[in-house]
Amino acid sequence: MSGLIPQHFIDDLIARADIVEVLGRRIQLKKAGHEFKACCPFHGEKTPSFTVSPQKGFYHCFGCGAHGTALSFMMEHDHMTFVEAVEDLARMMGMDVPREESERPAQRYDSLFDLMRRVELFYQKCLRAHEPAKEYFKNRGIDGASAQRFGLGYAPAGWDKLLNEFGGTAAAKDELHAAGLVIKKDDGNFYDRFRDRVMYPIRDARGRCIGFGGRVMGNDEPKYLNSPETVLFHKGQELYGLYEARQALRQIDQLVVVEGYMDVIALARHGVNFAVATLGTATTDEHLNRLFRLTDNVLFCFDGDRAGRAAAWRALENSLPQLREGRQIRFVFLPDGQDPDSLVNAHGPKAFEEALAGGMALSDFLVDQLAQSVDMTTVDGRARLAELAKPLIAKIPEGIYRELLLERLAESVGLAASKLELMISNHKPARHAAIAKPRVRRANNSKGQPSIIRRAITLILNHPSAAANLEAERLEHVNRPGVEILRQLIETLQAEPNLSTAGLLERWRNKEDGRHLGKLAAIELPTMEDFDAEAELGQCLSQLETMGRKDRVERLIEKGTLGELGDSERAELRELQKRP
Ligand SMILES: [Zn+2]
Repeated sequence: MSGLIPQHFIDDLIARADIVEVLGRRIQLKKAGHEFKACCPFHGEKTPSFTVSPQKGFYHCFGCGAHGTALSFMMEHDHMTFVEAVEDLARMMGMDVPREESERPAQRYDSLFDLMRRVELFYQKCLRAHEPAKEYFKNRGIDGASAQRFGLGYAPAGWDKLLNEFGGTAAAKDELHAAGLVIKKDDGNFYDRFRDRVMYPIRDARGRCIGFGGRVMGNDEPKYLNSPETVLFHKGQELYGLYEARQALRQIDQLVVVEGYMDVIALARHGVNFAVATLGTATTDEHLNRLFRLTDNVLFCFDGDRAGRAAAWRALENSLPQLREGRQIRFVFLPDGQDPDSLVNAHGPKAFEEALAGGMALSDFLVDQLAQSVDMTTVDGRARLAELAKPLIAKIPEGIYRELLLERLAESVGLAASKLELMISNHKPARHAAIAKPRVRRANNSKGQPSIIRRAITLILNHPSAAANLEAERLEHVNRPGVEILRQLIETLQAEPNLSTAGLLERWRNKEDGRHLGKLAAIELPTMEDFDAEAELGQCLSQLETMGRKDRVERLIEKGTLGELGDSERAELRELQKRP
C-alpha cells in the first residue's frame, strides 16, 4: 500500500525523475518541439499520437486516451503495482525508498516467503515421485509445460510429511503454523493441513507463493481445500493465475474471471492466457480494483445453471461501485453442465472465445434478471422493477455510465429517464434527499457550457505554478460539483508550490477523482507559449466568487422562507444583496 511510502518521497521522486528517460527505455521516442512523440504502446497505430511532455512529467495518447505519470506508465506498460513501480524508479534514480514507521511487511515476512518457496518445491518433488497424481493431471489434459508454469505439486498422504521435512525445531513448527501449512491440535502438537491432494500454489503479484489450493483426487471431502488466511494470504484479494497471465501477456486487453484453478490452467494450456479465478470467495471490491488496474475489460464466466446465475448476480452487485466510463463488464454463461475446463478440452479455444463473444453487457444482465422477477406486462410490475433497481443504481458512481444504464432501464419500464433518476436520487438516506433537488437543477444548468470549475481545474493541472497566489477562501460559498477538488488543488499547491502536473496527479492517485484529473491534465497538451494561465485562473476565480455569493444569497433566502434565519445571517443577506 502506498500509505507506507511517505508522500514527500513520492513528490521528490516524481520531481527528479525524467519521464523522457523512463519512457525512452521502454519505447522509441522522437523529439517534436518541446515534447516527444511515439507510436502508442497501448493501442496499435502507424502514425504517432502518443505525446510526452517533459515539463509536465506527463504522457497522453490522443488515439486511445491513455495518460499518466512516469509511475503510471511503468504500472500500465510493465504491469507493475504502484509499490513496485516506485521501487523500480527509485532504484533507477539511485534513491532508497523510505518506509513510514509502522511496519515493513516485506522484510518481516521474508522468512515466511522463503518457507513457502521451499514447500512449493517439496510438493513439486513429491508430484514427480507419485504416479497416481501425475496420472490425475495427465487425465485432465495437463501437459508438463503447464504443470511447470503453474508450479503444480502433490502433498503426500500421512499426517507429518511436511512437519518432518520442515518442522525440525519448535520455531520452525510455529513458522509452518503461521504459514497455514499445519494445524495445531489441542495438545499443542501439529499435523499437516494438506494430505494426499494435488496442490496448486497461489502466487502474489510478484510471483511469490503465498498459499495453496489443494484438491482431492478421489471422492473425499472437502473436494477443495485452500490455505487459511495468513499474514501473506488474503483470500479476498488474490486472484489465481493473475501473475501467470501478466507473465504471458505483454498487453492485457481483457481478463476473464472463471471459477476454478483447473479452468485457468486448462485455458492457459490452450493458449487462452487471460483467465483468473477467485479463491472460493465471491468477487470482492479488492479483486475488481486489481482487475481494473490491468484492463478496462473484465468478463465473468459462470455455469449457466442456477448456482452460476446466483454467483453472477453477486459479482454484479459487487461490481456496481466500480463502474465508470470506459470500463466494460460482461457476463458469460456457459451451456448447462459445461465449465471452461471441459469446454476448452472438448471443443478447443475457439469455442471458448465464441462463448466470450456472446457475453452479456452488465446493463443487459441487470435488466434481464430484474425483469424475470416481476410481471413486465403490467404497469405495477414495471414500477416494481424500477423499485428493485433503485438500490443497485444508487451504488454506481455518478457519470456517463450511470446515465446510460438509467436510460436503458427507463426504456424497459417505459418511464422518462429523468423521472427514473429522480426516483432513484430519492432513494438516498433522508439527509441526502434534502439536497437532491438543487443538485438535479444544477446539473441541468451546467449542461451546455463547460463549467468554470472544470476550466479552473484544467488550468491548474496544466500550469500548477499559476495557482501559487490563489486564495482558496474565495471559494467559500460556492456549492457546485467539483469545487471541493478545486479547493484541495489550490490548498495543495499553497503548501507545495513546486509540484508539477505529475506531482499533483500522484497526490490524487488513490482518490476517486484521480481518473478525472488525469483526463483534464491531458486537455491542453501541447502548451501555448503566449498563454497567461495566471490571468485566466484569476478570472475563473472571480466568476466563482460571484457565483458563491449568489449561492449564498439563495441559501439564505431559502432559510428565510423556512423562518430559520438568524440575526447575523439576516445582516449578511442584506449586505450581500447590496452588491452587484
Ligand atoms: Zn494509445
